[in-house]
Amino acid sequence: MNIKNEIKEILSMTLYRGITARSHPSLYQEFRNLLKVAGINRKIKLVPYPDDNYNGKAFSNNRILISTALLDVYNKAPSITRCMLAHEIAHLKFGDVGFKILRENFMIDWNGNNISRTLTLLREMRAEIEAPIIAGLTQRRHKKIQLIYKKK
Ligand SMILES: [Zn+2]
Repeated sequence: MNIKNEIKEILSMTLYRGITARSHPSLYQEFRNLLKVAGINRKIKLVPYPDDNYNGKAFSNNRILISTALLDVYNKAPSITRCMLAHEIAHLKFGDVGFKILRENFMIDWNGNNISRTLTLLREMRAEIEAPIIAGLTQRRHKKIQLIYKKK
């Protein structure tokens, strides 16, 4: 994705409303619990955005986005939603958010190679190691859910 589209997408994401204890009581409570397990004590907003795929994004220091598909599947199969929440919370825990990440698109190593792909890969691996711990899922269950994400 080019940087202009990425910024445009980011700005559009600020328009959606977060879930609350009133709008989604059990998901809200679960989200709070996951944050606690991850050791994040500040207030984080959980904000759904329209998307038919199972997707999430650690958007900023205080905002996690999840696709409406993940919101919809929660009542039927909560672990599918929980797993993605844990992944995004892991990103938040390590500060993998916002303009810090955008800036990395321009980083080059000593040989002039762009290193953003390498950094992305490392960040994703770290989040994947942390997510099942936060979500309380076995590695096996976590892998199964990853396959469900890919199929959707
Ligand atoms: Zn990720």
